[in-house]
Order: sequence, then structure tokens, then C-alpha cells
Amino acid sequence: MLWSGWGDPALARELPSGVRALLRDFLGVRAPDVPAVGLESVRLPPVALPEPLLGLLAEVVGSAYVLTSHEARVRHTRGKSTPDLLRMRAGDGSAAPDAVVLPGSHEEVAELLRVCSAERVAVIPFGGGTSVVGGLTASGAGFTGVIALDLGRLDRLLSVDAESLVASFEPGVRAPEAERLLAAHGLTLGHFPQSFEYATLGGFAAARSSGQASAGYGRFDDMVVGLTVATPIGTLDLGRAPKSAAGPDLRQLVLGSEGVFGVITSLRLRVRRAPDERRYEGWRFGTFAEGTAAMRALAQEGPLPTVLRLSDETETMIGLAKPDAIGSGGSGCLLIAGHESGGVLEGGSVAARQAGAAAVLTRMGGEPLGAEPGQAWERGRFSAPYLRDSLLAAGATVETLETAGFWANLPRLYDAVRLALAGALGSPLVMCHISHVYETGASLYFTVVVAQEGDPVAQWERAKEAVNTAIVAAGGTISHHHGVGRDHREAYAAEVGPVGVSILQAVKDRLDPAGILNPGTLIPPPAA
Ligand SMILES: Cc1cc2nc3c(=O)[nH]c(=O)nc-3n(C[C@H](O)[C@H](O)[C@H](O)COP(=O)(O)OP(=O)(O)OC[C@H]3O[C@@H](n4cnc5c(N)ncnc54)[C@H](O)[C@@H]3O)c2cc1C
Repeated sequence: MLWSGWGDPALARELPSGVRALLRDFLGVRAPDVPAVGLESVRLPPVALPEPLLGLLAEVVGSAYVLTSHEARVRHTRGKSTPDLLRMRAGDGSAAPDAVVLPGSHEEVAELLRVCSAERVAVIPFGGGTSVVGGLTASGAGFTGVIALDLGRLDRLLSVDAESLVASFEPGVRAPEAERLLAAHGLTLGHFPQSFEYATLGGFAAARSSGQASAGYGRFDDMVVGLTVATPIGTLDLGRAPKSAAGPDLRQLVLGSEGVFGVITSLRLRVRRAPDERRYEGWRFGTFAEGTAAMRALAQEGPLPTVLRLSDETETMIGLAKPDAIGSGGSGCLLIAGHESGGVLEGGSVAARQAGAAAVLTRMGGEPLGAEPGQAWERGRFSAPYLRDSLLAAGATVETLETAGFWANLPRLYDAVRLALAGALGSPLVMCHISHVYETGASLYFTVVVAQEGDPVAQWERAKEAVNTAIVAAGGTISHHHGVGRDHREAYAAEVGPVGVSILQAVKDRLDPAGILNPGTLIPPPAA
């Protein structure tokens, strides 16, 4: 993973000439490209943890797994939001952990939490490092120091119960490896977020992730049937049946807890039979409102495709739904429907479900565009993040944000976010799509592009604050799948109210009395 950007450096993308023209003509971006500083030039604070304490950590995991090198610290500094990348590109490593510690078992995680509680060392659980909400930003204030607890060594498939369709994994398994291991059993998770290449199973559970095929396979939190969690006061082992009436479901307390209550050390996941047939296709709708109504009809009446995604007019025009063919977009609104044989439980062949969905889409005013747009989307489904690095270098800020709401409230949410962005940024390019649908509502996912000001981080923070306020006021949730981190914690507090925050704080105080786990994430610090 590129430390100052996204993905495999070998796959870095040149900006297509159409995008350069767009930046120049629509956004006024004229500055010459500015590359990121070299890794060795990133400015890091000195290691705050004293040698004897580093020695105690090494006693738990072995000295080979306590890293304090410049490179290891840089690679564990922050996540992958645009402000994170802007800071890293400029050489600002002020949020670096003092050390990176790699445990090799649940017992080692538990022992590290005991040592760190006793010595007041803050612990940031680190999965794939793809958080886009400031969920990995270390704060050493009030602590002896900070460690990044890298779960990369916990990377095994533990068991497969093909009869129950349940697989157990350690948390550090990256999504492609999970799919590879399951494929050997003819199974799939079906979880394909855009961060698929690098994110881990533990991170998906900790941040309540949702993938591109959520219509067919569900959100990641739907897939979790059991969890083992190491906390500073002991181990939680949750989930011994598919459903239970035995009190409140404590698994729900862990899902979305972003490392502040404990460290997930294993997960039991519902899996599905791997599909042997996939058909993706495109449809055109005259307006976003018409396309949205068609998505709602599919979500409420079925048959629901495995992948369902609708771009608004601007995203369709830019062609962002097909990142390998940006600039070739069309008019109206592009809808992508994907039908797979594996994910969906209801009966019927792929062809029958495709025909059933086509009847609904036609009735709702859709015009079939055939397989090509669907195939182009499938080819480019993981490539958009690579473009972000080239855009940042070229002087444009590009960032995404998301929310969700009930169907009746979606138009209001859509307008509120766009208005807030225009108010904060002038004339940004704002694109939107719907890609996660439910019977009662859907998520809205926005991509924003704007010419960078002198301080692009401050510029984006201004916009983000305006959008957060607008989402709360318009009755949406502050996140459908990115999570809370630091960037959304005040808006999350507004969403759950003071009683909700006090419950979260009480759980935190009980499980993590020294307050070492990911301090500052999820729960706002008490007002001074
Ligand atoms: C380019 C890009 C595209 C993305 N696309 C999507 C998308 O389509 N859908 C989506 O849902 N998200 C997406 N994300 C966001 C991100 O990938 C998800 O939030 C993902 O769940 C994070 O997984 P990770 O393994 O990288 O976790 P990390 O980023 O390492 O950690 C995320 C949070 O969980 C905590 N954590 C990690 N592992 C554990 C553990 N084992 N126990 C306890 N806490 C833990 C961390 O402390 C942190 O607070 C995207 C991000 C990027 C950069």
C-alpha cells in the first residue's frame, strides 16, 4: 500500500486528458502538479515510550514484532481520508504512533491490553489502515505514549462449517485473501467495498462496513454471527446461535465500536455459496428522481439484484460509475444492476431474476442499455481511489461522504448536502449515487471535487463541518458505512443524544477503565 496515497503504486493512474480539461475549465485548477514528499522526509515526533516499556511489550510479542523504525511509524500514521493523505503528502507525521506492535494470538492481545492499561499506553487497533473518518489518528495526550496494534499477523481462516454456512477467521485477514480461502470451499463472503484490496475482516466489523453487492449479500454486520473480543478486563465471546432471545444482543455493541471497547480477535461469519453466473447490465433513467423510484420498487417488491447502483445526472455525465472510461458518460441517470447466482437466497435462476427486475425497471420508465455499461462498471469497480492521488497532486481536492435515510426523506437529504457543500466551497463539482438499498430507505454517497485553496485541509474541514450539520438537521444518519472515527463523533453524539453518549461512556469506563483504547474515537471527550 502506498503510504501517501491509495493502493499498489504499480497501479497508479495518470489523469485522463478529459479530466485535466474538466479541472481547468470547470474548477479553474491551473497549478502544476505537486508530488508528495519522500517517505524519509516525513516529520515524526520522537518516540515517547521509554526503552524499558518497549522491552515489556517485546516480552509479550517478541522483539521482532515491536517496530519503532521511521518507515513502520509512517505507514501506521492516520488512515486514508483525503485530509489524512493531504497531511501525509505534505510530510506531516505528527499523529504517528510511537511504536507498531504485532501480536500473534488472542492471548498476546489480551496481555498487551493488560500491560498498556497498567502503563497508561494508548492502543490504536490497526487493521488494513483504510479508515476514512479519522479512526486511526493517535492522540498521546495524557498517556505515556501510543502504539498501533497491527493485527496483520492474525491472518488465518480458523474453520469452515459448510453445513451451517459459517466460517471463522482471525481479524487481520484482508478481504481478497478471505475470498481466496473461501473459494477453495466453493464459498464466498460477497463483501466487496471499494477498499476491498486492503481492508480487513476485523476492520469491517469494527466500522460496520457495507460493500458494493450489499443488496444481494447484505452489510458486513449482517454477516457476523459471532465474535471474540479481548478487552482490558477480560474476554467477550459472543454468538452461539443464528438468532437468540437471550437478552440484548451484545454483538451489536461490538459492531461499529471502532476499537474503543476491545480488540476483535476472531469472527464467525455467515458465508454463501460462490456464484457460478454473473450478469451486469446498464439502464438509463431520465432523472435521479425517476431512477430512485425504480430502486425503491425493486427494494420493496423484488426481485432485488445482487448489485444495484444509480448515479445522479452529474455522476452520469462525468462517467464516474465507469472509472476506466471517465469522460465517456451519457445523459440522464445510469443505473447498474448486477445479478449473481450465489448471493441471493430466494429461488429462481439468474435469468429469471434478471427478467423480473427488468420488468420492474421498464415499468418505472427505465431504458435498457445492455451489458456493456455493467461490464465497464465491473472492470473499474476498484479503480476510482487510484485517481484520487493524481487529482490531489494536480491541485484538486477530491473526497467522498455518505449518509442514509428513509425513502420519503432522501430528496431532502440530497438537497441539504449539496446546499451545504455549495455554501462552504463555492462551486464544487458534486456527484452522487445510491448503492445500498433497503425496503425502508437507502444511502446517498457523494463525491466532491474542488480546486485546492492555500490550506486544503482547512478548506475541506470547513465543508465537512457544514455537511455534518446539514445531515443531522435534515434527519439523516451521519454515516451509513464509513463509521464515526473522530470526524463524525460530534454529529454522532447529536444523533444518539446525551443519554446515548452516556451509555457509550459507561460501557467504555467498565471495559476499559484506563481509557487506553483508541482514545478520542467514536465518543466525544467530556467538555472541559
Ligand atoms: C478508497 C476507499 C474506499 C472505501 N470504500 C468503502 C466501501 O465501499 N464500503 C465501506 O464500508 N467502507 C469503505 N471504505 C472505508 C474503510 O475501508 C472501511 O471502514 C473498513 O471497514 C476499514 O477496514 P480496515 O481493515 O482498513 O480497518 P482500519 O481502517 O484499520 O480500522 C478502522 C477502525 O476499526 C478499528 N479496528 C480495526 N481492526 C479492529 C479490530 N480487530 N478490533 C477492534 N477494532 C478494530 C480501528 O481502530 C479503526 O477505528 C473505504 C476506504 C477507502 C480508503
